[in-house]
Amino acid sequence: MPKNAGAFGYYLTAAGQPLERRAFSPLQPGPSDVIVEVYGCGVCHTDVGFAFHGVPTRRALPLILGHEISGRVVDAGEQVGEWLGRSVIVPAVIPCGNCAACIAGRSTICRHQFMPGNDGDGGFASHVRVPARGLCAVPEVLPDGITLDALSVVADAVTTPFEAIRRSGLGANDVAVFVGAGGVGGFGVQIAAALGAAVVAIDVDPFRLELAAKHGASLALDARTAGEKELKSAVRSFVKESGRKGIGLKIFETSGTSAGQQTAFGLLDHGAHLAVVGFTPQKVELRLSNLMAFDATARGNWGCPPEQYPCALALVLSKKVVLDPFIERHPLSDAPAVFRAVAEHQVRRRAILVPNSQHTAESLR
Ligand SMILES: [Zn+2]
Ligand SMILES: [Zn+2]
Repeated sequence: MPKNAGAFGYYLTAAGQPLERRAFSPLQPGPSDVIVEVYGCGVCHTDVGFAFHGVPTRRALPLILGHEISGRVVDAGEQVGEWLGRSVIVPAVIPCGNCAACIAGRSTICRHQFMPGNDGDGGFASHVRVPARGLCAVPEVLPDGITLDALSVVADAVTTPFEAIRRSGLGANDVAVFVGAGGVGGFGVQIAAALGAAVVAIDVDPFRLELAAKHGASLALDARTAGEKELKSAVRSFVKESGRKGIGLKIFETSGTSAGQQTAFGLLDHGAHLAVVGFTPQKVELRLSNLMAFDATARGNWGCPPEQYPCALALVLSKKVVLDPFIERHPLSDAPAVFRAVAEHQVRRRAILVPNSQHTAESLR
């Protein structure tokens, strides 16, 4: 009897079409693969790009999307039997470990990487097959109030800003500005605050701004009522009052909108570091020479190397980064409607699709 009989998933069959529930034959692990019973899978704007905006997936459709996965290993290949029965977070980007980029320590640009829900079927399913390489082990006993399904957001929404922050060299002497305090920025704000930085959150949604202010942002600015100049002068005064002596702002574009990118770029000052974390297919017009004039740096990151996951997870398990106020759970059967709502910007928290709500209820009991 295969360990994942009755498996099913929600497939994207063509861009613009609602996701479709289909059963699939039981998954067999290759020698170094595991089969994960999905406890939770977060919905990312990248998924929305695939589903609605014609961003092509690397494997042809039909494909099960979803790259923000937590769950339990129910079957394992002969070389990776030690994972059987373990609770895990599946990294959003799983590098090969052997190529020139991986050996050079640039595993996020590995051309042989596997991204669930892009290079193969992903986590909007009862089960998913992934390489065991890079899996992040989750302790079997979790702190009060933290459940395995909620930890799915560590796979991308927590680790991607974590890596952007790590690369920026952010420390306690710095001011961090997050443009976009939604699913990704809300965690970025908390991580930066946990590192001791003074944090500014900019958003267009008062609900998100309030949440950011409660969880690490000392200044919350509404971009609907403040123009580029006002934002810049508010941030400048904040830097002065904060007493932080770090050189240059650390700016994080976490909105994934062209307006947000424009705002973030407009905040550049001398020696600034601009991290592009959010994704949008839209273009923006910028005076790129500002990078030269300010001797500033702009940098992107495609996910986070698996070896950084335990550090990011530790911030969550120690509750320096809280998940619950920033997430909302939905049954996987609501996947088509949740996708539409996320695409229409009606979901203010990170949406997690849960195949079996029994698991959440059990662990909260
Ligand atoms: Zn993502
Ligand atoms: Zn590689």
